[in-house]
Amino acid sequence: QTGDDRAATIPRYVRVNTSLWSTEEAVQSYTKRGFQLQGAFASSKGFAIDEHIPDLLAFNPALHFRDDPSYKSGKIILQDKASCFSAFVLSPPRNDPKAVVIDATAAPGNKTSHLSALMGNEGKLYAFERDKRRFSTLKMMLSKAACRNVEAVNADFLTIDPSHPKYSLATHILLDPSCSGSGIVNRLDYLLEDGESLVLVEEDRLNKLAAFQLMMIKHAMKFPSVQRIVYSTCSVHATENEHVVRSALQSDEAKSRCFKLAPRSDVLPTWSRRGQVEEMMETGDADSLIRCVPGDDDTNGFFVSCFIRERDSALSPE
Ligand code: SAM
Repeated sequence: QTGDDRAATIPRYVRVNTSLWSTEEAVQSYTKRGFQLQGAFASSKGFAIDEHIPDLLAFNPALHFRDDPSYKSGKIILQDKASCFSAFVLSPPRNDPKAVVIDATAAPGNKTSHLSALMGNEGKLYAFERDKRRFSTLKMMLSKAACRNVEAVNADFLTIDPSHPKYSLATHILLDPSCSGSGIVNRLDYLLEDGESLVLVEEDRLNKLAAFQLMMIKHAMKFPSVQRIVYSTCSVHATENEHVVRSALQSDEAKSRCFKLAPRSDVLPTWSRRGQVEEMMETGDADSLIRCVPGDDDTNGFFVSCFIRERDSALSPE
């Protein structure tokens, strides 16, 4: 299968932005406009309510929704299903005015707006983005999606002092850093076309990305109140996924602060495709990880992991 073939097997996912609309209202509205709840592939007018992610609808892949009034008004976010796993697995505190959450790598802001909605638009969500141009896109997206509890910060997360009075209170951190993007089906085409010499360049690039990704996780682990860190990528390479998680677990930061992987029961247990067993032989916890394979899982390629801090150490921040 080529990337284009795979793209045609991925429904057009529409996440209802619960800061502005409810799923019931969305279903009613689309039904009135002639759509039918009969599955995304039944016809061009078919749609479905997703079985894993609340408030996610799946439409026919041929639709794009860019000109749709519900998209223009911020009531829906066009976001692949797998990309919704990160915020859902992070599971930030809901309707808690004291909640403090960080999205460390936020632009264009799909996951930030998802976190904000899951928090019931309450508490505080700090969204860091280091790139100036992408930061403007983020600000626009947050305003359109009515994310009132988000403070966007144009800064490199690695320069943020974990003991800063504002940020040191963060209990949940989402890390969705730059990656090779190899899980995005159209990009896969490009990778497959490359010759062997380019694959070597690719390997070098993957190693550099992995070193950066590991640095980001280790920095997140230094925040004194953090209890839960989700690390996700849209890469299919173990170098950026299981290998990074393994190194993070073996780091001094994880050991001294008692971080481990959350068990499967806490990480979307009903999703059947888990981490690569052969890459997690030593610890035997591939089941804690989530993978999505483009073309097979009705999503783009994706990876999700969730680090949690053992109770005693989380209760006594340094
Ligand atoms: N989570 C976003 C979403 O779902 O819309 C996508 C994030 S994208 C994969 C990674 C983003 O992180 C890019 O916008 C990149 O500029 C930003 N970034 C990379 N390194 C960063 C750092 N050290 N601090 C802050 N932002 C960073």
